[in-house]
Amino acid sequence: MFFFAAALLASAAASANDIYIHAGRVLAEPASGRVLAEQTIVVRHGRIAEVRGGYVDGPGREINLRDKFVLPGLIDSHVHLCHENGPNDRMNRVTMTAADWAIQGARFANITLRAGFTTVANLGDENDAIFALRNGIERGDVPGPRIVAAGHVLSPHGGDGDVHGYRPDVAATIRRSNLCSGADDCSRVVRNQIQRGADIIKIVATGSVLADVAQGVGLQFTDAELQAIVQTAHRMGRRVTAHAHSTDGVNAALRGGVDSIEHGTFLDDASIKLFKASGAYLVPTLLAGATVTAWANDPESFLSAPAKAKALEVGPKMLEMGRRAHAGGVKIAFGTDASVAKHGTNARELSLLVQAGLTPLEAIRAATVGSADHLGLSKEIGSLAPGKLADIVAVDGDPLAAVSELEHVTFVMKAGVVYVDAQD
Ligand SMILES: [Zn+2]
Repeated sequence: MFFFAAALLASAAASANDIYIHAGRVLAEPASGRVLAEQTIVVRHGRIAEVRGGYVDGPGREINLRDKFVLPGLIDSHVHLCHENGPNDRMNRVTMTAADWAIQGARFANITLRAGFTTVANLGDENDAIFALRNGIERGDVPGPRIVAAGHVLSPHGGDGDVHGYRPDVAATIRRSNLCSGADDCSRVVRNQIQRGADIIKIVATGSVLADVAQGVGLQFTDAELQAIVQTAHRMGRRVTAHAHSTDGVNAALRGGVDSIEHGTFLDDASIKLFKASGAYLVPTLLAGATVTAWANDPESFLSAPAKAKALEVGPKMLEMGRRAHAGGVKIAFGTDASVAKHGTNARELSLLVQAGLTPLEAIRAATVGSADHLGLSKEIGSLAPGKLADIVAVDGDPLAAVSELEHVTFVMKAGVVYVDAQD
């Protein structure tokens, strides 16, 4: 039956609704690295029907990208679309409703899509606004990237994902449903997040830079809690990604079976062995490291004293961490932690990955096939192959020569719909 359906789809007749993209140069399969010249990408029902040599015409519309470099839509595996960090963070948490966060998220989603990011993973929110934004984008109500949403981050009570810096009675009213203590309680919270709509489970295994509390960046969950979270999430078909800075946090999370590590600042040789043994991905978020370092060194900085101390401990180490992980053969997925850096500047991460030793092609792989695999979406996105979603971007120059070209995309299509076309 499946074969029959696939055969039907492949033979679906060409129609006036088809789109024929004439592409001067195409990196259709980042895994191979092969650049093809003068290709036609045929888009049908939002998916890629075929990639053919030469400039071919058909009954549908033609899009002229003959002087462009064309590649798959970019994927950012770590963003927070509903806000941008700044001096009003603490006040926003007690003044903005979930509806306010959602409307703000719609603006940042549009900015992110227009920067060439056609899929993102949203790893942690104040409330459930992200699920409404995800669903609204999917329905076509508002423009934005496809969203893999985590909802709330899981944290131990009093840990990094709890609320800090408020009067206890205020904290009690804004505390979220993301806190757990003990293995059974952590399983319960994982199930609750999935019930609320989580596509992926995000945990804060260690302290973080921007939490307004002086508890360092070390491990916070117990081993039993980590294992319970991973087992529960996996049995319900969800991946687990762990925010982790300290060495003990990275290694305990990997031993606990998480599928990926966000940041990974103090990873060591033992971590690299654990990454390679399990096949876990690292999401280095070098752009977040560069951004918090700049904030901490700014005398007018809005950071609280504990956040500033942690920024100076973590930020300057991240590029070297990326270098060590890449040299050690760890699988790298692309993620920026945008909301720290401004939404829409996501592609700056590519140049930082190149500074960490990746070639431009390797950096582009991280942002396409790598992140697609990391998020479990390889069948749908990451390359321009027949049957996959027509997520396509283009730039004027050659990103394999200068990866910063991708900071200025001039064409963006998501699922066959054009959102940016420099010719317009
Ligand atoms: Zn984050």
